[in-house]
Amino acid sequence: MGVLLFVFYVAAAVGALVVLNILLGRPVPFLRWSVLRMLFGTKRLLSEWQGGDGREQAAASYVVANAPAGNVDAAIAALDRFAYRHKFLINVGDEKGAILDAAVERVAPRRVLELGAYVGYSALRMARRLPAGGQVFSVELNPSNATIARQVIEHAGAADRITIVVGSIGDGGQTVQTLEEAHGFTAGSLDFAFIDHAKDAYLPDLQRILQTGWLHPGSVVVADNVGFPGAPEYRAYMDAEEGKRWHTRAHKTHAEYQKLIADLVLESTLLLG
Ligand code: MG
Repeated sequence: MGVLLFVFYVAAAVGALVVLNILLGRPVPFLRWSVLRMLFGTKRLLSEWQGGDGREQAAASYVVANAPAGNVDAAIAALDRFAYRHKFLINVGDEKGAILDAAVERVAPRRVLELGAYVGYSALRMARRLPAGGQVFSVELNPSNATIARQVIEHAGAADRITIVVGSIGDGGQTVQTLEEAHGFTAGSLDFAFIDHAKDAYLPDLQRILQTGWLHPGSVVVADNVGFPGAPEYRAYMDAEEGKRWHTRAHKTHAEYQKLIADLVLESTLLLG
């Protein structure tokens, strides 16, 4: 009985804190039902890349209902609004999104590869900054997320610039083959990559991409969440390669949709292909 009573008191205390936080206008961004719901479902989140309560589909429906069709800016703003006001999303978000925007503008890539589409938010941000004729190819492990992302992208009118590919760079070569045979990935053709999927896959997937020869000197790779939740092996690799194979600029920032948790975005330029 002692344990049950303890669990009851902890649950009651957490509930009281969340209610107090809502009453005070949500000054503590992580004391939200939708964030706690996600934390309790972390195992599922990290295997299926969904919050477990249908929030990704709800986000897409929110975009369709609230953003005018054919407007990329409005779709991005609607996803930010949904994540702030309704349910927390693991998008790159508005603050880190601006870092991504600036990198895309600087590089002006013709071909972008994204790892982890989720609901299509960052693909839309990158597509918005592409030069004429530029294309984003986003590899997404979860077919439901791919469907949701396509729905958002279609509504935003960016389907001509973004292609979602279901798969994984680490699936034994199938997705690499699809990108080469169906989507025109060839040696030296890839100008920009955005890595934002499973944190322990950052480094092995970057190494697989290097092996394909798609990148060229001057290609830029941006990696999200290197500080939080953290990609320590990727960070150590870029530290060790600094000034040799890569030159990295580290952007100190905050984890998505709040200001309490620090994060790090790495922007790495390939020096030697
Ligand atoms: Mg991220």
